[in-house]
Formats: sequence, structure tokens, C-alpha cells
Amino acid sequence: MKIGIDIDDVLIDFCYPFAEFHNQTYGTNWDKDDLNTYRLEDLTGDTWDEMQLKMDKFVKNTDFFNKKISPEIKKSLEMINQDHEVYLITGRPDHYREGTLCWAKNNLGGLYKDVFFVYGNIEKVDKWEFCVNHGIEVMIEDLPEFALKCRDAGIKVLLFDHPWNQGIKGKNICRVKSWSDILQYFVKSSGVRA
Ligand SMILES: [Mg+2]
Repeated sequence: MKIGIDIDDVLIDFCYPFAEFHNQTYGTNWDKDDLNTYRLEDLTGDTWDEMQLKMDKFVKNTDFFNKKISPEIKKSLEMINQDHEVYLITGRPDHYREGTLCWAKNNLGGLYKDVFFVYGNIEKVDKWEFCVNHGIEVMIEDLPEFALKCRDAGIKVLLFDHPWNQGIKGKNICRVKSWSDILQYFVKSSGVRA
């Protein structure tokens, strides 16, 4: 099978460390449960562009593209790779492209076939549409909007459990709470050697 994997908050935490940065830098007091929306600008009244600038500052100040992936996730991808093709599919903006490609190569080199950027100026497609066009059968995702659209397009979604995706469910959606759950899904569905 071709497996699509989202990057942020699936392979590497973005939202929680960003919330911590936002608390320290802008005086908010968010804890994990406050993050019940992935549109953080809704919590602050910022415009989308203003929030993006804050994220850019976070990425720069915390050297985000040099964050190491957890050994457990790397090991899980090694196992999935035994029987499947892995594609990293992200909605990160175009100006994160270079940093993202370096990060992927340094952390997961050899464990994915390609990295795709949807929504930006390069692919210019919706994530679900990209998955359909490229024959992705399973998408590991955390964002409600993408998960629902993929589900409706008949793509199986492993929805990584976070406060911002509670209540999202459906026939093609399987909620997973850890990489061990994800591995378990592949063991059951296609016999990955765990
Ligand atoms: Mg994500």
C-alpha cells in the first residue's frame, strides 16, 4: 500500500511546543486542553497572517528544523517500510520547504519515497485530492478538515488523537493514540512483521 503521513503533530510535535512559546512570548496561558482548535488565531483574534508570523518566529527561535524525531517513530517507520511505500504529505507553507526537506532527510532518510507539499504554490491541490491522484490508500493525519475530506474520498484515515480533533469520526476513520497503535493497525491489516 501507499501510505501518506502528515508531518506536524504526527511525526513531530508542533502545536504543543508552539503553545508553550506563545505563552512565554505573548503572555497567554494555554494548556493542552485549551488547544481545542487547530486554528490558533481563533483563540487570539490574530489574522491568519499574524499567526503565521508568530509561527515563523517560533520555528526560527527554537531551531525547529533541527528537532530530532523520536527513536520510537523512526523504528515504526522502519517496520511500515518493510511492506509499504511511505510518502510524507504536508500542508506546511512553501517557505518551510527547504527546512522540511533537510529535516526529513536527516531524520528519516531512506524511510520515505518522497515529500509532498500540498496547498502551496507547487502542488496547489487539496490534500485529499493529492491522495486520490497518487493512489494513497491510508493517510495518517491529525487535522479534522483533512481527515474528513480524505474519509469522504474513500481514503482510510488513521487520526492521531489530539484535543483539536475530538468528535471526528466515521467509517473510514480510525483514531490512534500513539505510534504503537499505528503499528498495531498495520500488523492487523497487512501483516507487517512487528
Ligand atoms: Mg498535522
